[in-house]
Order: sequence, then structure tokens, then C-alpha cells
Amino acid sequence: MDLRLNNKLISEYHSGSQKARVLTESWVEEHLFCPRCGNEHLRHFQNNRPVADFICPFCNNQYELKSKQGKLGAKIADGAYDTFIERITSNENPDFLFMSYSIKKMYVTDLIMIPKFFFIPDIIEKRAPLSKTARRAGWTGCNILIGQIPLQGRIDIINNGKEVGRESVIERVALSQNLSIDNLHARGWLMDILTCVNAIPTDIFSLSDMYRFEAYLFDRHPGNNNVRPKIRQQLQLLRDREVIEFLGKGKYRKIKRI
Ligand SMILES: [Zn+2]
Repeated sequence: MDLRLNNKLISEYHSGSQKARVLTESWVEEHLFCPRCGNEHLRHFQNNRPVADFICPFCNNQYELKSKQGKLGAKIADGAYDTFIERITSNENPDFLFMSYSIKKMYVTDLIMIPKFFFIPDIIEKRAPLSKTARRAGWTGCNILIGQIPLQGRIDIINNGKEVGRESVIERVALSQNLSIDNLHARGWLMDILTCVNAIPTDIFSLSDMYRFEAYLFDRHPGNNNVRPKIRQQLQLLRDREVIEFLGKGKYRKIKRI
């Protein structure tokens, strides 16, 4: 995969955001395979479509690209908060591609794919509304907190200027499908419990290790007084989805497959 951005494409553009859009979108169209089915190319939609930027002509999966200069970091700025929330609460949500690039060196430094079902309202941060004197006074943008998405949902395609093998990308995307869940409330719990499991440093852990997250989980789900039963229920779900296995006597093991 050629990681270079094509400088020639932007000679006629003046605005920085237009240049960035042309550079990054044309790179995806020219070089990126479909992370779901492995098809050689993705097709670019016409500009200004409200939902997605790219579609795979083979499996019809849709993708939206967000890019930023410099490091990818833990959050990425996006458009209107309400629109984004509306989208992730509908089933029309595309998969997301997050890219960072170096404008100095003109190449792609990082690219991750996040499958649609890893998005929950909690990872969309509301920015302060624009001030009364602004042209779009009151308009409220958002940040996508990609750092809060469990690692099972952050699939590296390019990492620090190095390409990850195509087969391994497709395998990880397929595995992540195990965690797909439509109901947004249930999805929130699953993602939170997954984050807690990931935070435990050892592969084998106990129920009491999980109960240490009780206060954290209560904070995330105020009003739920049954956090412990919920933890046990979600651990069963993670077992059914082949993320962990039960060893008996309140012990569990993380299943590491990639
Ligand atoms: Zn495809």
C-alpha cells in the first residue's frame, strides 16, 4: 500500500480544509481495500452526502472518513452534536475510518477502522455552543472520544506509518462482529464491561476483580442499583460472544485470538 498523499491534487485549492479533504479522500479511494470483505477498492460517493463517504462495490458496506493532521490522539472533532447522536441511534450508521496524516511529509501516519456498533452516545462529547456573537450562534459541535472505544473496536490498518497486514485487518473486523449489538442501552453496558475487562492487566481474572469497577459503572449508569448482577450478566454475554471463557469458581480467562 502506498502511504503517500498526492500533492498534485491540491494545487488549485486554497483553503486548508478543502486541501485536507481532497488529499485524504483521494488517498482512500485510490489505495484502501474494504476492511470488511477485502475488496481491492472503495468507491467514493459524491460530495456532501449526509451519511457516508465511501461504499464497497462488492459487499455494499459504507464508510465515513474523519481525518486530522498530526497525531490521531484520544479525540477527534466532528460536526453538529445532535446530528451525530441522531445518526448513531439509527441503524443507518456507517463504519468509521479515522486517519491522521503529516502534511509536511505528505503521507498517512495512522488509520483505524471502528465498526458502527462500537458507537454509543457516551463517547460523543458535547463542545461548548458557539457564542452569541458568532455567525452560527448556539451551534454545538462534538468530539468523538475514540480513546474510550474498547480496543476490540479500534482496528489498526496503518499504525505509526506502518501498514498492518490486510489479512489480519479483515480477521479482526470479522472477530469484532461478535460484539455487534443493536439495542443502544444494551450496547452501552457491553462496551463498559468490555472496557473494565480490558483494564485488568492479567488474562485470568476473578469476579471480585470485576466488582472493583462497581463505583465506576454506577457512575456511568446512574439509577441502576443492580450493578453486580449486571456485571455477571454481561460476563455471560462476553462468554457467549467468545471474548472470555468461564473457568469455574468465579474465575474467567480472556480469549486472545489475535
Ligand atoms: Zn467490502
